[in-house]
Amino acid sequence: MPLKILSESIIRCIFDRVEKSEQITFGNHTLNATVTPIIVNGNLNFISVVLRDISAFVQLERSLLKRNKELGIINTLSGAFISSGDINSVFGELLEKVLIVSDFSIGWIAIKEDGTFVLKSLSGASLRLRHELEKGSLDSIYENVAESTDPLYILEPEEIERIEVLKKEGIVFFSCIPLKVGSETMGILMLASRVEVKFDYDLASLFSLIGNNISLIVEKVRLFQETQRLALTDGLTGLYNVRYFYDMLNKEIARAKRYNTSFSLILFDIDDFKVINDSYGHQAGDEVLRSIASILKSVSRQTDITARYGGEEFILMLPNTPKYEAFNLATRLREKVEAHSYLEKEAVKITMSGGIATFPEDAEDSKSLLYAADMAMYEAKAMGKKQISFYRRKHETSI
Ligand code: GH3
Ligand code: MG
Ligand code: MG
Repeated sequence: MPLKILSESIIRCIFDRVEKSEQITFGNHTLNATVTPIIVNGNLNFISVVLRDISAFVQLERSLLKRNKELGIINTLSGAFISSGDINSVFGELLEKVLIVSDFSIGWIAIKEDGTFVLKSLSGASLRLRHELEKGSLDSIYENVAESTDPLYILEPEEIERIEVLKKEGIVFFSCIPLKVGSETMGILMLASRVEVKFDYDLASLFSLIGNNISLIVEKVRLFQETQRLALTDGLTGLYNVRYFYDMLNKEIARAKRYNTSFSLILFDIDDFKVINDSYGHQAGDEVLRSIASILKSVSRQTDITARYGGEEFILMLPNTPKYEAFNLATRLREKVEAHSYLEKEAVKITMSGGIATFPEDAEDSKSLLYAADMAMYEAKAMGKKQISFYRRKHETSI
């Protein structure tokens, strides 16, 4: 074949009497052949054929192109991290970018959470497949991929035939790329196609490049979010810290003013908590605080902000909630905390006092609203503890 190209060049050179230049490949070698007609007095005297081995240049060009493509891919993928703070939208963005750079039409990302793989993002597939994946139809494959040390997992066509969900989707090529941090598989990227795909060295190196970069990006986003979470939450109870609470309180005041709505605060203080510390030790006291925090969190609504206000004081901000509703919630919380037995064998009982203040009827700025909740709480203490008190401007009454 290479010789045929050369002889064709020579023939054309004889007829056209102009220089021809061709690239000829012999195995791993690339030659540049220049065929030149030597014309003396209008006659074609002879033909010069110069062969130059340009394999090194071709190789270099190829690796530069490949490197360029890789850098482009890395650049495209990292864009997902920069433009998104929320990890779930990072998965969506990453997947879209992966499909573009890899030229695949179907893909999804499953991330390991509490020991099982959870579908995070899916593109190019039917709702039926989404449903099946959410049901865990491919969990056994995920497990195999996670356990294997191979950088790639490509299903043979016969295997795909045997997997009903893939077959029904018309998938004929199916690959799983483990997303690893160290030796741990934290997720898997799936790329699939309804048309045959030639799997070769280039595709394998593209997959491993994509896998490595996605793992790095997901890990970075996770670290970033963890840092943010730590800055917002209290280390002992996991509730929001007071700094975040103040922030949200100011935002809620602005929102309530704009939309002319009201909201309430409940401030709880544990009754006689010092006795718990004195009787069972500070560590036991901490355990009680953690249990109370999880009760408060489990009962309050998604939109409420539950924070640790001080040592053994908790505060809740309840958007769009008038006083009587806040009272009902506070009572439910108080009763639930009181019904629980703490410190396992000790079966310790705890009671709480709570104060309620409502914006804008009790105060019109954050400082005086907090003061109002504090006053109401102290009134509950003064009335004999284990109860909830309202703030009224003169707070002459309590329930
Ligand atoms: P009262 O019914 O009047 O509220 O009495 P109290 O004993 O609960 O008094 P107070 O509200 O002043 O609570 C202070 C106690 O809370 C003393 C302090 O040691 C304890 N405390 C504060 N923060 C923590 C903490 O992080 N861990 C533990 N174990 N105890 C704490
Ligand atoms: Mg206190
Ligand atoms: Mg107390």
